[in-house]
Amino acid sequence: MTAPDTQPLERRHRLEDLPFDNSFARLPPHFHTRLAPWGLPDPHLVIASDEAAALLELDPREPARGEFVEVLAGNTALRGSEILAAVYSGHQFGHWAGQLGDGRAHLLGEVRTANGPLEIQLKGAGRTPYSRMGDGRAVLRSSIREFLCSEAMAALGIPTTRALAIVGSSHPVQREERETAAVCTRLAPSFVRFGSFEHWAANDRGDELRLLADYVIDRFFPQLREAASPAAAMLAEVSRRTAALMARWQAVGFMHGVMNTDNMSILGLTLDYGPFGFMDAFDANHICNHTDHGGRYSYRRQPHVAHWNLHALGHALLPLIGDEAAMQEAIDRNYAEVYNRDFVALMCAKLGIAAPREGDDELISQLYGLLDANRSDYTLFFRQLGRLPASPQGPTADAPLRDLIIDREACDAWLAAWRERLRGESRPDGERQQAMNAVNPKYVLRNWIAEGAIRAAREGDYDELRAVHECLKRPFDEQPACERFAAPPPDWAAGLEVSCSS
Ligand code: AMP
Ligand code: MG
Repeated sequence: MTAPDTQPLERRHRLEDLPFDNSFARLPPHFHTRLAPWGLPDPHLVIASDEAAALLELDPREPARGEFVEVLAGNTALRGSEILAAVYSGHQFGHWAGQLGDGRAHLLGEVRTANGPLEIQLKGAGRTPYSRMGDGRAVLRSSIREFLCSEAMAALGIPTTRALAIVGSSHPVQREERETAAVCTRLAPSFVRFGSFEHWAANDRGDELRLLADYVIDRFFPQLREAASPAAAMLAEVSRRTAALMARWQAVGFMHGVMNTDNMSILGLTLDYGPFGFMDAFDANHICNHTDHGGRYSYRRQPHVAHWNLHALGHALLPLIGDEAAMQEAIDRNYAEVYNRDFVALMCAKLGIAAPREGDDELISQLYGLLDANRSDYTLFFRQLGRLPASPQGPTADAPLRDLIIDREACDAWLAAWRERLRGESRPDGERQQAMNAVNPKYVLRNWIAEGAIRAAREGDYDELRAVHECLKRPFDEQPACERFAAPPPDWAAGLEVSCSS
C-alpha cells in the first residue's frame, strides 16, 4: 500500500470518532477469536507517522494526546472497534508448520476512508490463543525496525503495510537479553495472508475456504466476480501483484528475510518486517536473516521463493479452482510475465534508459556480475552512475563510480557498454540524471542506520529515530543534513546480525 494520491484527505477525525465497519469481524466466529489486549503499563509515545495518520484522516494533533497513547497501547478500547486475533496457518522455511495465527497481533477493526478500507492492528499488546510458546510481546528494537521500514518502503513507492506509531514502556521482555516491550500499530486494507487460505484447505474446510475467497474477491477484486473461475482469476491477480512486488524488492536491493507463506500478503504488500535488510556491498547470495542457515531466503532466491509460495496458495485454492492445470497456468504465466517485464523496466530506469528494448537484460546481468564480483555498494553505485556524463570524459570524470569497483578494467568495460546503449537514445544528460535520481534512492534503511536509532532509543533518546524517519520520507532527494545516512556501513557495524528474535 503506497500513499494514495487520488483523493485529497480531510484531516478531521479524533481517534474516538473513527468510522468503523469491521468486515473481517463479520466472518464466522472460527475465523478469529474476539479478545481484549493485555495492554501496556505506563506507555509513552515513541514516534508517530503523520503520513500514516493522514491515511486514517486523523487530525494531525492526535498523536500528542494521552488518549491516543492509551488506545495504541491496548489499554483503552475505541467505540466501534471489535478486537480480534485471526487464525491462519502456513509453510515456514519450506515445511508445513500447521496452525499459526495472530500470536501477538490484535485487529482493532476496519476504518472506512475516502481511499477505501483500512484495518488497524496492534502488534505486541499481549498473548492470544495463537501465541503458542510466544509471550505476545514485541520489543522496542523490532518495533522500531518495523516502523521505520514500513514508512521507508512507502516513500520508495513499494507496496507495504504502514506503521501509525510506536508506544513504548518500561515493561521488561526477555529475548537474548532483557529488553522492553513496545507496541507498533500497523495499517493495511487487509492482513489476509496466503496462509489464511492454506489454513482452511489443510483442515479440509471447503465452505470456509470459499467464504474467505469470496470475502477477498468482493472487497478487493470485485472485477473478478464475473470470471469463469473467480478463484483462478484471484490467484492470477495475486500472482501478478506478488511478481510486481518481487521486481521492486530486487531492484531496490530489499531482502525480507522470512518469506514464509504466513508472511505473504494476499494484496501483494510487503508484510511482517522481521530480519529484513537492504543490500550494502552487493552479494547475490546474501542472507539477511542470521537464522536462515540454508539461505532459503537469500536475495537471489526471493523471486523463486515467491513463486513457490504462490504454488502453496494455488494448492490451497485447488478445491475452488477444480483443475490443477488451470491453477498452475494462473500462476506461472502471470508471474513470469509480470516479473520479467517489471524487473527489466525498473532496472532500465535505474540505468537511465528511457525506452527499454530487446537485449537490455544482457546489460543488466553484466552489471549484476560486476557488482557481485566487486562487492560494490548497491545503493551508492546507482546514485553515482546517475552523475556520469553519457559521453566518455575520462577516468577522472568517472572516478566517483570507479572508486566503488575494485576491478577498474571491468568497470570501464561495463561503462563503455552502458554508454553505447545510451547513445541509442537522445536524452540530454541533465534530463536523464534527473530521471535516474527519481528512481535510485540516495537513502535506504541500512541495518546500521536502524541500529543507531535503536541504540539511542533504548537509552530513552528518540532524536536519532526521528531523524532517520524524517530522512527516509524523501529517499530520492538530496538532503544535506542527512548526508551521514547515505554512507555504507561504518566499521562498528561490520558484524551486525539480525535474526527472527523480535
Ligand atoms: P513471524 O514469522 O515472526 O511473522 O511469526 C510467526 C508466528 O509466530 C506468527 O503466528 C506470530 O504471531 C507468532 N509469534 C512471533 N512472535 C511471537 C511472540 N512474541 N508471541 C506470540 N506469538 C509470536
Ligand atoms: Mg508473521
